[in-house]
Amino acid sequence: MPAPRPSESAEAARAAAQQAEFNEKKWVWVPDEKDGYLAGWVSKEEGDFGEFRTVPLYALSKMNPPKFDRVEDIADLTFLNEASVVNNLRLRFGSGAIYTYSGLFLVAINPYQTLPLYSDAIIQQYRNKRRDENPPHIFAVAERAWVNMGEERENQSILITGESGAGKTESTKKVIQYLAAIATDVHPSHSRSPTIVSTTTMPNSGLPRSDSFRRGHALSSSVSSGIGSHLTARGRLGLLERQILQANPILEAFGNAQTQRNNNSSRFGKFVRITFAPDGSIAGANIDWYLLEKSRVVFRSEAERSFHVFYQLMAGSGALKESLLLGGGIEDYEYLNKSRREVDGVDDKEEWSALKGALDTVGFTPAEQFDLFRIVAAILHIGNITITSTRADDAVMPDPSQAERVCHLLGIPVPEFTRAVLRPRTLAGREWVSQARTKQQAIVELGALCKTLYEKSFGALVDKINLALDRPSSKSTFIGVLDIAGFEIFEINAYEQLLINYTNEKLQQFFNHHMFVLEQEEYAREGIKWEYVNFGLDLQPTIDLIEASGSVIGILSCLDEECIMPRATDLTFTNKLHGLWVGQDTEPRHPGRDKYEPTRFDQGFIIQHYAAKVEYRTDGWLEKNKDPLNDNLTRVLAASSDRYVASLFAEYAEAPATPVGPGGAGNIFTAGKKRAMKKGAFRTVAQRHKEQLSSLMSQLQATQPHFVRCIVPNSNKKPGRVDIPLVLDQLRCNGVLEGIRIARLGYPNRLPFVEFRQRYEVLTPGIIPRGYMDGREACRRMVKSLELDEAIYKIGTSKIFFKAGVLAELEERRDML
Ligand code: ATP
Ligand code: MG
Repeated sequence: MPAPRPSESAEAARAAAQQAEFNEKKWVWVPDEKDGYLAGWVSKEEGDFGEFRTVPLYALSKMNPPKFDRVEDIADLTFLNEASVVNNLRLRFGSGAIYTYSGLFLVAINPYQTLPLYSDAIIQQYRNKRRDENPPHIFAVAERAWVNMGEERENQSILITGESGAGKTESTKKVIQYLAAIATDVHPSHSRSPTIVSTTTMPNSGLPRSDSFRRGHALSSSVSSGIGSHLTARGRLGLLERQILQANPILEAFGNAQTQRNNNSSRFGKFVRITFAPDGSIAGANIDWYLLEKSRVVFRSEAERSFHVFYQLMAGSGALKESLLLGGGIEDYEYLNKSRREVDGVDDKEEWSALKGALDTVGFTPAEQFDLFRIVAAILHIGNITITSTRADDAVMPDPSQAERVCHLLGIPVPEFTRAVLRPRTLAGREWVSQARTKQQAIVELGALCKTLYEKSFGALVDKINLALDRPSSKSTFIGVLDIAGFEIFEINAYEQLLINYTNEKLQQFFNHHMFVLEQEEYAREGIKWEYVNFGLDLQPTIDLIEASGSVIGILSCLDEECIMPRATDLTFTNKLHGLWVGQDTEPRHPGRDKYEPTRFDQGFIIQHYAAKVEYRTDGWLEKNKDPLNDNLTRVLAASSDRYVASLFAEYAEAPATPVGPGGAGNIFTAGKKRAMKKGAFRTVAQRHKEQLSSLMSQLQATQPHFVRCIVPNSNKKPGRVDIPLVLDQLRCNGVLEGIRIARLGYPNRLPFVEFRQRYEVLTPGIIPRGYMDGREACRRMVKSLELDEAIYKIGTSKIFFKAGVLAELEERRDML
């Protein structure tokens, strides 16, 4: 039942007064450009001018009675409209309640201040508790995932999305903190004891919507024993748990950076799986990562920094810096001195110690740590290589000492390195020729080298962490936490935005499908006939438009094709796209035909995503997709005398049968066609992302998912401030409002027969005879007497279901009594 929790008598009196006041007028939400929505009441319904504003009726949304203020689950609101949703979030946020449920979602608003919400005591408060027994919390989501995993022996996933700065990474950490704490509390000697938690005996009453989380599997005692059982006095975390927690500062040092929106912004996506043994203790962890923004090592806006590790290393130990040939400070390095150097409230020296400590804990040997920093230092040195040009516009390196430092650190011969950068060998017809690069080309090449070095080293770092933490076993189950950027719409949307929005489109499709399946299962269980109609929920056309390959081709395949065409440009690519979807002769069966439009610009297109129409500009897409690195350079690096560096480029190692000596075509693309490359060595960015995403999706599909939506409350990182239009935008983009819309298509409010009768029998006096009466029959009589239209309710086998708004009306009638 959507009624609020029991209240004190003073509270009750206040509530009654509020309700009385509310009843006097017809309250509505009036759209407002600045504040999103304003509260108002209807003074006249027709013709006459209202006292303050005249608004067309369709623009108004009904306001919920005050007793619904601060409800813990938005789905319980009787009038489910945007205004009521944001108003509820705002009220709750104002009183420190940053978490709110919205049906299947947990909505989390970043408080931008430390709240006392995550202590050990609070962890204990959420242990072994159902969702409705505590206020909404990220711990409740983690608890549910853990319990479900144990009871149903099914892998779980927690999908966290939101804008930059919304709190995804903090939420991920809280989930892992919770899991590490409770899994440590599992006492092995008790692992055979029967479980305390049981879903089957759980009354549904307090779970207006959350019961749809459940799949209704009967509890099997043989599998449920162990997990969710006895708590011991809180033990210290074990080494594995500490290692898992310490993996995070390492990932953040190398993968996060200060940006305008977030001082600790993750510049990659991740899927962290915590695996559990059958007794509920942690067995290991594994991390997958996506789309690292490696261009940041070379360039970023003036107000931002490169990845944290650069500044930490510069603030770190003198001896290490010396062996990495890093004299001087940040101001001496071209890749650092062009933009911001410090972050408010962050001490890079302290962070450096924390990073070293974390590397030690996870098990990186001193030599392995040195390898990581060697790459970071090499990048800084590469950034300082000066390139000038001859009169003939050929690139030259006037000062060899800088290249010497780089080559020393990377374990490669200076002449070969310089030649690969300045005069790489390329294939001209059938001949290999050395071709001089221009200054600009050489600079771009060095930048590309840094990006590749960084990305490969990041990959090796994660591999190493996984090696330390991952203990795969056939008996284990996992909880995976996905921390990935949400839907992005910027002024100018580039290739990166397409990839991230494509990812979000797939995740939203996954959510829609999941929600529909659950709803249908619930209706089927209750024997309710409900037509599955596609209410524009199927996002597949948009997804196909982007990812289709084979007989029909999507945007990414088209880009891949264009990347191997001689003389192709971003423009020819764009025209090819238009040719596929715009105009008379476009095949009607082509996917996403009506989701695609050309733009006003020469180079761009518009996609209708579920969240909004987004305009993309295609400048630079070919290069970004090829992500080329001079073949000459990769070979030099693959032959490095340093094992770590050589291992990063192992896939480019010279095949023994290669007829021509070192060198090769200008980029791996053309090279790939002409020479025997190691299989799988080369992939476009699109191919790699598609593969990674499809592997992620198939993993998610095999889990029971939980959804967390993080919201950034204002653009100034300030506590206590809510910018309503900003929040509304996010609710539209992150699927929360869409989730509500879908819920409304069905029968979002439901009550067990007993509760329905208890609460509303007062409205139908004398209809139900004294003594026993079957709950279903009682309901039937009551709705008849209440004169409810048959279209707005359904009677199941144990519950009665209502369209949105019906219960509100009944509540009103009750209040009138
Ligand atoms: P990005 O996409 O840029 O990585 P994000 O969604 O991961 O962003 P976070 O790094 O998690 O955002 O959060 C940004 C900042 O907001 C944190 O560094 C912290 O200061 C603050 N913050 C977020 N969540 C909380 C919270 N629950 N309690 C206190 N502060 C928080
Ligand atoms: Mg983050």
